[in-house]
Amino acid sequence: MSNSHTIDAQDYDVAIIGAGIAGSMAGLLCSRAGLRTVLLERHRFPRHKVCGCCVNGRAFQLLKQAGLESGLRQLQPATTSSLAVRYRGRKLNVTMPTSFAVSRRAMDQWLVTEAIASGCQFIDEVTAAVQPIESDKIPRKTIASRMLDLPEERTLLLRFQHPHAANCPPKTDADRHASRQAKLSTKIVLVCDGLGHPSLHLLPSFTAEPVLGSRIGLGAVFPRTAADAWIQQSEVLMAVAPQGYAGVVEIENNQLNLAAAIDPSYLNKSNSPLDCLANIFRSAGVPMPQELRSATIKGTVPLTRSARRIAGHRLFLLGDSTGYVEPFTGEGMAWALTAATAAIPFVVSAIRNSWSDELVRGWQSSFHDITRTQQKICRLLSATLRHRWLLPPVMTTCQFFPSLTQHLVNRINRVPKALEII
Ligand SMILES: Cc1cc2nc3c(=O)[nH]c(=O)nc-3n(C[C@H](O)[C@H](O)[C@H](O)COP(=O)(O)OP(=O)(O)OC[C@H]3O[C@@H](n4cnc5c(N)ncnc54)[C@H](O)[C@@H]3O)c2cc1C
Repeated sequence: MSNSHTIDAQDYDVAIIGAGIAGSMAGLLCSRAGLRTVLLERHRFPRHKVCGCCVNGRAFQLLKQAGLESGLRQLQPATTSSLAVRYRGRKLNVTMPTSFAVSRRAMDQWLVTEAIASGCQFIDEVTAAVQPIESDKIPRKTIASRMLDLPEERTLLLRFQHPHAANCPPKTDADRHASRQAKLSTKIVLVCDGLGHPSLHLLPSFTAEPVLGSRIGLGAVFPRTAADAWIQQSEVLMAVAPQGYAGVVEIENNQLNLAAAIDPSYLNKSNSPLDCLANIFRSAGVPMPQELRSATIKGTVPLTRSARRIAGHRLFLLGDSTGYVEPFTGEGMAWALTAATAAIPFVVSAIRNSWSDELVRGWQSSFHDITRTQQKICRLLSATLRHRWLLPPVMTTCQFFPSLTQHLVNRINRVPKALEII
């Protein structure tokens, strides 16, 4: 992959902050639509990301609609077709539509490569921050921005980890500092920077504070050994305990991926994240995968939150930056791909026609329509998991009424009607 640390001298129509699923897909689709697009990522790529790594039916359909099926298959993802929930020795097996499991390291790097191939410029190791303008102070739903004198471009402050394309080498510390900073002006900004949208820290009206008691994520990738043979190859194993849950799935190259959502208070009481995970497996009544003991376990910020605004003047938020519900249903990537696909007509219209506040309202209502039902289901399931008395009857109901469970699973995996290709 040809990563770059420099900004081309050209003007950009669109700058995208964050090269996760939402950002790379948006980069790819914007470039295909003929927009001059730059994708900015703060980490060096490829990078690991805490995630359950399950590309569900909907995510797969959206990738397929974008002509990316064969590229995904070339990553040699594991195929999954069932979910095995374990809670205090109880078992619930749910049949799922065929899905794929692949590390986020491989998946995200591949999507970035596809975006570059479509003409998107990609710059990693650069942290972007959106500079505020007057209308950012106006609370959501107020339509007074027409009265303000609004700029025709947005400005981003960029901080490079490496001295960028400065032609003269820095001599002093001040030069060195300055050589790592730059400003970028662009007609549209897509904020795809994940949980808590750090690139909007200068725009308080967009905050996405975590809800009280929000769980945090833990994740690791490690080799599968003979001792893990009990974890079935096509199965997503979900070990559930009152203090959180941990999902394990096989991914490419005979590796296992673990992703967990844990009560922070429980984590604080445990000696280490590993101890905490060991207790969850023990409580669920299953062994802990063997090589997890030697794996690097990474954490996230609190997961459940929703952004106060998801659009502003020449600014659209996509993916986790709009907010997130706990990951039990493994849908975050599908939500990110859905949002990236649905946002493109708004971005194209903003570039080809003049900017209008209608685009903000349009994106808000479209986003609401495509995510509302899915997020409600996920919220409901997450709430169920927190009540230890509720989970056993729910597991029994699912067991005895498989058609009900299947209906729920199908809802989760279905592409929203508005995005279906006829
Ligand atoms: C424990 C756990 C398990 C999960 N399991 C699943 C699952 O099985 N299936 C599923 O579909 N989803 C799952 N998810 C959800 C999924 O990981 C997210 O919903 C998805 O990654 C969202 O994509 P995104 O592009 O919005 O954000 P991200 O993938 O988080 O990408 C954001 C990118 O922005 C970059 N960035 C941040 N700030 C800046 C900045 N200022 N400048 C430049 N770049 C910046 C980050 O480095 C990152 O690369 C899980 C999540 C967790 C926490």
